[in-house]
Amino acid sequence: MEILNYTKAHKDFRKKVREFLKKEVIPFADLWEKDKIVPREIWQKMGQAGFLSPTVPKKYGGPGLDLLYSIIIDEELAKTEQYGLFAPLHSDIIVPYIITYGNEEQKKKYLPGCVSGDIITAVAMTEPGAGSDLAGMTATAVENGDEIIINGSKTFISNGIHCDLVVLAAKDPAVENPHAAMSLYLVEDGTPGFSKGNKLNKMGMCSQDTAELFFTKCTIPKTNLLGEKGKGFYMLMAKLQQERLICSVMAVAAAEHMLEKTISFCKNNPVSGKPKSKSQVNQFTIAELATDIKIGRNFVNKLIADHMEGKNVIIETSMAKYWTSDMAKHVADKCLDLHGRFATLERCSLLRNWRDIRVMTIFAGTNEIMKGIIAKSMGL
Ligand SMILES: Cc1cc2nc3c(=O)[nH]c(=O)nc-3n(C[C@H](O)[C@H](O)[C@H](O)COP(=O)(O)OP(=O)(O)OC[C@H]3O[C@@H](n4cnc5c(N)ncnc54)[C@H](O)[C@@H]3O)c2cc1C
Repeated sequence: MEILNYTKAHKDFRKKVREFLKKEVIPFADLWEKDKIVPREIWQKMGQAGFLSPTVPKKYGGPGLDLLYSIIIDEELAKTEQYGLFAPLHSDIIVPYIITYGNEEQKKKYLPGCVSGDIITAVAMTEPGAGSDLAGMTATAVENGDEIIINGSKTFISNGIHCDLVVLAAKDPAVENPHAAMSLYLVEDGTPGFSKGNKLNKMGMCSQDTAELFFTKCTIPKTNLLGEKGKGFYMLMAKLQQERLICSVMAVAAAEHMLEKTISFCKNNPVSGKPKSKSQVNQFTIAELATDIKIGRNFVNKLIADHMEGKNVIIETSMAKYWTSDMAKHVADKCLDLHGRFATLERCSLLRNWRDIRVMTIFAGTNEIMKGIIAKSMGL
């Protein structure tokens, strides 16, 4: 029995996503990698096609679909090597903050644009001096009458260049407890005192725009507080289950894709007069990778089902995030070996996969942080 119940509508949707990527994304991906950014227009095309934030309720301009539709988009992006078009972060990690914590006015104002692609979102937590240790952040938000004044800087912010709306974490300096001091704010592009720094050029996910953001006496209306004041840290924590799950979904899909490509390569490239796939040593490597991937796939599918049923699987998603990203890294490495010298060529897309998926062990909470969470849950 399948763990996930994909209906005909889901399957048709997957076909549409594939067709869209084939026509609108894949032919341009190399150019975007060279430019080190995807164009804004592709976000709007994604939106027009119905591939952004499919879970946004109809009331707020979305199609009101279930999370499986989002999962399909995320998987297809990974299976076509499109890590630069970072829609999963927008659709499944940031927009849900607005869906869950936004008030009626905020939802009406922002969600339709998040669905159409006219509003690209970013979430800004990391700072030059605060990565894993979020409580160590120093950006401040101080109330002044009907306004909030923000000072500080954020770094490594995905969609940092294109973003129209930032979900920003900042602290009230008057509150001593670092967790209780943190709140989330909605900051629009163009707000005086908000500026974007240079694009950060990375080893992988080159076309995914990543930037520094600066806030200097950046003044927003008090109504741009997202959710309750002082609850920012807890709101971030509450959304981690889905964030880790999405990261795991992409890791498994990436591993499946890399192995598929490698099997085809081994079948079609000879060594000592016979296809590489006929050599026992290569067969054993491929068999081991296929087993790892199957384990990851079943685990992640079960977690998707549990998550969609509203179960608390935060520990299990932490396990999945660390295990699947390590697994994908291992698969990438072995597939590279199986490709031999060809994989060292810039034009070999496997090389790009190898670089792109490397970051998965670092973002969405480092794998060591995941293990710390698991150990703590075991009372260690
Ligand atoms: C491509 C990319 C996109 C990103 N996008 C965003 C974004 O959109 N928004 C955003 O806010 N941030 C983003 N980040 C930042 C990302 O969330 C951080 O890189 C991540 O949280 C890790 O922080 P760090 O890099 O400072 O590493 P550190 O926290 O300095 O960790 C370095 C090493 O120390 C280990 N370590 C740290 N603390 C502990 C501990 N307590 N116990 C055990 N080991 C520990 C880590 O596991 C790791 O091995 C992005 C990063 C990248 C690379």
